[in-house]
Amino acid sequence: MHKKVFFKDKIIDKEKANLSIGSSAVLYGLSVYTVFSVTLVGDRKLAFRLKDHYQRLINSSKIIGLDGFEENWSYESFVDITKKLIEKNKVKKDVYVRATVHVNAEIAGTKSRGLPTILSVFIYDAVPILSSEGCRLKTSTWRRIPDYSIPSRAKVNGAYINSVLAKQEAIDAGFDDCVFLDGHGHVCELSAANIFIVRNGKLITPDSTQDLLEGINRDTIIKLSKEHDLTVVERPIDLTELYVADEVFACGTSANVAPVVEIDSRKVGDGKPGKVTRKVQEFHKQARHNQSTHNWLTEV
Ligand code: PMP
Repeated sequence: MHKKVFFKDKIIDKEKANLSIGSSAVLYGLSVYTVFSVTLVGDRKLAFRLKDHYQRLINSSKIIGLDGFEENWSYESFVDITKKLIEKNKVKKDVYVRATVHVNAEIAGTKSRGLPTILSVFIYDAVPILSSEGCRLKTSTWRRIPDYSIPSRAKVNGAYINSVLAKQEAIDAGFDDCVFLDGHGHVCELSAANIFIVRNGKLITPDSTQDLLEGINRDTIIKLSKEHDLTVVERPIDLTELYVADEVFACGTSANVAPVVEIDSRKVGDGKPGKVTRKVQEFHKQARHNQSTHNWLTEV
């Protein structure tokens, strides 16, 4: 974690950025967040899909009922904070930026509306959570929290206990990450990344109503795949389809595009990253380095 952070309304040293042990953020995990990447291209520092990340933070706040956030912040000030943090920390490598809206009320009980919120933003070196050369997954015995219990499209800190349980279980069993299933046994996502499979040349991913985070990289891959003449289908995926898929990959800000080469001790395809996955890796990388017609890059 880099030294200078944004906390409440100014940039300070990370040691001074503290939340009360009695705050709802600490007591209930009552915070929402997003993480986006900033990639160095020559002297330029390019934030990927910043506006979409800001919008997701607003949407998460709205779903949970943290009404103060949208009223008190603007996209312009969000960009400004990001620029200042990049500058003050003298960033020389690719970084991830984590922005969190915390409910800062003390002993407020299990409520969300009408309470004070604060924004924290910090940056850290961009070390991907999954290998770009192949990772091994285990189906979790923990099921994904359904949207009707904790909304999946809101990125709520407290809900990540579900991911912690599943990821730790996978690591304890000697795997790199988990595959979450929903209550009906359909595939949802990994602990912190979305999932695609390739069958007979088509890309298939669970649709966004299936208890998953609406990942910004998932959306990027859907859009770019279509532009590269690849068919993308959004529909439920059975667990056994993972076992017989030609290729499987995960995607997300901290995962990039990660080929999956083994699931539950079964090889995916020939056990090596596949051709379609390599193509997706390439155009996903291009999107983070070069401005396209989508206007997804913001100089920070
Ligand atoms: N699912 C979960 C549960 C996640 O935490 C993440 C990472 N934010 C993703 C999917 C991927 O989302 P994104 O592409 O927006 O990083």
